[in-house]
Amino acid sequence: MQNISNSQNFFNKAKDLIPGGVNSPVRAFDSVGGTPRFIQKASGPYLYDVDGNEYVDTICSWGPAIVGHANNDVILAVKDALSNGLSFGAPTEGEMVLSEMIKEHLTSVELVRLTSSGTEATMSAIRLARGFTNRDKIVKFEGCYHGHVDSLLVKAGSGLLTLGNPTSGGIPEPFAAETIVLPYNDCEALTKCFETLPNDIAGVIIEPIAGNMNLVKPDIEFLKVLRHSCNKVGALLIFDEVMTGFRVGPGGAQQLFGISPDLTTFGKVIGGGMPMGALAGKREIMEYLAPIGPVYQAGTLSGNPIAVAAGIATLKIVSQPNFFHSLENITMELIDGLRKIASEYNIHNFSADHVGGMFGIYFRNKVPKTFDDVLDSDIKLFKTFFHEMLTRGVYLAPSPYEAGFLSIKHKGKPIQKILEATQESFEAINGQSS
Ligand SMILES: *Cc1c(COP(=O)(O)O)cnc(C)c1O
Repeated sequence: MQNISNSQNFFNKAKDLIPGGVNSPVRAFDSVGGTPRFIQKASGPYLYDVDGNEYVDTICSWGPAIVGHANNDVILAVKDALSNGLSFGAPTEGEMVLSEMIKEHLTSVELVRLTSSGTEATMSAIRLARGFTNRDKIVKFEGCYHGHVDSLLVKAGSGLLTLGNPTSGGIPEPFAAETIVLPYNDCEALTKCFETLPNDIAGVIIEPIAGNMNLVKPDIEFLKVLRHSCNKVGALLIFDEVMTGFRVGPGGAQQLFGISPDLTTFGKVIGGGMPMGALAGKREIMEYLAPIGPVYQAGTLSGNPIAVAAGIATLKIVSQPNFFHSLENITMELIDGLRKIASEYNIHNFSADHVGGMFGIYFRNKVPKTFDDVLDSDIKLFKTFFHEMLTRGVYLAPSPYEAGFLSIKHKGKPIQKILEATQESFEAINGQSS
């Protein structure tokens, strides 16, 4: 058995210091049970816990570690920046360099405002959409997560056009009432909503590839209808690419699908593992932000020089010509391998999918298209699989509703290790049920 006594002790102590022992809920392993591993260090595709166990990491810090943990170029860039001081509260050259790298890859981007998290970026994006259009209502989609912004922590009411209900305590009903929640990939519901409220919608925010209800790909037709509907009524289309930006390709989901949003939010990869987010879009809209425009947005540590240095070094690597081709091949090898093994072991409730360097594994027989599809999966089997894999040194996302993420350093041995562990895990699962 794996020794996890230090993690167990730390977790017990942490629960007396930090709510639930963690600083972000999914880390607590609530959906899978058991003891979260306390991590001491990471290198390339591997995590090392405080008991000295090694894991192949399939989360990559929920996306940022796309060039591998403790990547030499990124660490050197950070060390270099560190010696000049940690924060100045004044503009720096690096902010320009990073903004230019973002702009270079996305035709929808003219101006960029850096923040310290994805949540700040989405929060500011909806404020900007409201300020720009002088309207209040925001449309979001079921199963999409946009950070812990009050008016975005909302789920659908019972009817399609009923008002949203908060999914969290502490959110006043009137806030949630300004958010309309529609099913993902449902053109009919979307069209009906826009026909009913043509003059009220400030903006629509969407994960153009959903990665917070496991991985769910959009129908291109759905995105086209969305773009067209926004144009028709003068609502802003906000692509939340906090996860997909520089993860599914250099130009994000918008480049893959050839659909240009009015605003885009970033986070995760663009900070290379440091706290970072960004809000970007057309000049005409972005100039509604203070200090030029009336929409206030700020941050003491926004554009922090250390975070910017990590971001620039990371984007330099991912901008190399064959980067995404290689990452895609690595991810495909994993997904093909998993499908093959599941079929060999007669695990029928299994399917898998990927885009660029992100993937989904689903304990259902078909790849999901909606949030309801995702909910309709064999959670018990997932939990068993998760723990079988973890004890064999593979760290999967500790929830059936999270996507997985690989890095360029997963090539070869790490992928083989995941596939071997999968084989053994399915064998163990079959042994338990017979
Ligand atoms: C992670 C994420 C966020 C929130 O970013 P934080 O940096 O955690 O605040 C927002 N939107 C999407 C799509 C995300 O995946």
